[in-house]
Amino acid sequence: MNENIVVLGAGLTGLCAALRANAPAYEAADSVGGVAASDRVDGFVFDRGIHVLQTRNQQVLDLLDEIGVQTAVHERNAHIYSHDCYTPYPFQINTAGLPLPLRIRCVWDFLRREENEEPANYEEWMYANLGRGLAQTFLIPYSEKFWGVPPAELTHDWTGNRVPKPSTSQVLRGALWNRNTPVGTNATFRYPVNGRGYAAIADALMRRAPAVYLSHRATAIDPLRRRIRFQDGREVGYRVLISTVPLPHVIDLLADFAPAEVREAVGRLRTNSILVVNLGVARANLSDRHWVHFPGKDISFFRISFPANFDPAVVPPGMSSISAEVAYSPDQPIDRAMIVERVIADLVKVGVLRPDDRIVLRATSDIPLAYCIYDKARKGAARLAGDWLIEQDIVTCGRYGLWAYFWSDEAMMSGLNAAGKALRLLKQAPAEPPCPAPAIRAEARHVAAVRRGQAGTEQCR
Ligand SMILES: Cc1cc2nc3c(=O)[nH]c(=O)nc-3n(C[C@H](O)[C@H](O)[C@H](O)COP(=O)(O)OP(=O)(O)OC[C@H]3O[C@@H](n4cnc5c(N)ncnc54)[C@H](O)[C@@H]3O)c2cc1C
Repeated sequence: MNENIVVLGAGLTGLCAALRANAPAYEAADSVGGVAASDRVDGFVFDRGIHVLQTRNQQVLDLLDEIGVQTAVHERNAHIYSHDCYTPYPFQINTAGLPLPLRIRCVWDFLRREENEEPANYEEWMYANLGRGLAQTFLIPYSEKFWGVPPAELTHDWTGNRVPKPSTSQVLRGALWNRNTPVGTNATFRYPVNGRGYAAIADALMRRAPAVYLSHRATAIDPLRRRIRFQDGREVGYRVLISTVPLPHVIDLLADFAPAEVREAVGRLRTNSILVVNLGVARANLSDRHWVHFPGKDISFFRISFPANFDPAVVPPGMSSISAEVAYSPDQPIDRAMIVERVIADLVKVGVLRPDDRIVLRATSDIPLAYCIYDKARKGAARLAGDWLIEQDIVTCGRYGLWAYFWSDEAMMSGLNAAGKALRLLKQAPAEPPCPAPAIRAEARHVAAVRRGQAGTEQCR
């Protein structure tokens, strides 16, 4: 094992970095996987918000093969609930079920969409690429509900293959009849089999990583002495550090070592937050859909998914489950005391639950940092902090280390690339080899010691 490199965080990024650099990883939680972990509660398995593997990246697919992750391929069955009707995803090419005047407006505005070679923000991007009808009917309300900020405050450099841009014939055809057209990167996707949820990927990576030290939250980093302090006061040394800790937090750990302009820049970075309401329902085959989006502000959640349609083994026999994702922010707080009952009432309202359905499990899972907000501050702040960290021989990577809209395959690639960078930096880094304190080494816990199911999920009684 190469203990000159230390990895902070054992989500997908940190685990891939540890594997590739043959370095130890230190993780704050008592299980691996970060936001791509899964929680087992009373025989149900829930991911932390919907997770599907839509990658076409051969390096990632080869890695999954190598570490023995078995997946099944699914054809997407996803919908949008708008104006009291379910239309297939993506909305842009499936307006057929909407009220006729709205359908005509969406098509008409699409055909007359604005010429704008350089949209200044996401809202202008929508008007230029999709037209005002589609934007105002679906994308703007969904965006406000999901991101918690008006789309005029967002950039559009993240849209790429995340927001499908339809052709004229697709829009026209979709306004005439509803069809589940396989458009977009997740038209087919993979999901792990064998009832372990998405966590199967992180667990398999952990089994191959040289050492993963759980329950080790870093509380301070001294870049001069090249030491990390953990919450129990013990320290570990490094020559090059790979950090997957959220960018503002890693700068906090460096405290006064970080220049004021870096601290000030990362202080402007924003994310949305998501509370996932997980329900176990005493009825089999609740739906044949994978997931549904809800742009309407009268419904508490922006998205629901049906875990058993990804892998039937994640629910007990004869049961179903639902994960409802509710976005919140300081400007859009949620009433935590009421949210579970509100979600259940809304699921009845949209016809997913029957009023007499028996809910056998109510649990919540909080994701305080969920999707990084692409506002005008993001790019410059992330670059300034990343450049300064590299000067300290700290490679920041991953979804929150780079403050990026990464899917899990991109997070994994980020970890692999960071390991390459760290190995190159090691050639020039100060030679003193700081070794982990023996006490910490003796407590290294590997696969067998991992407790799964408690972290991140709170069961409501
Ligand atoms: C709601 C939601 C839905 C998603 N859906 C999909 C999807 O469908 N498909 C897809 O491909 N991707 C999806 N993603 C994205 C995917 O989950 C992420 O890109 C990926 O899991 C990020 O991994 P990471 O290791 O970079 O970050 P994280 O998972 O956040 O890992 C960072 C780790 O660092 C640890 N840490 C933090 N601070 C410290 C500290 N001080 N000391 C030690 N350790 C620390 C954390 O505990 C965590 O385990 C989704 C993400 C979210 C939030």
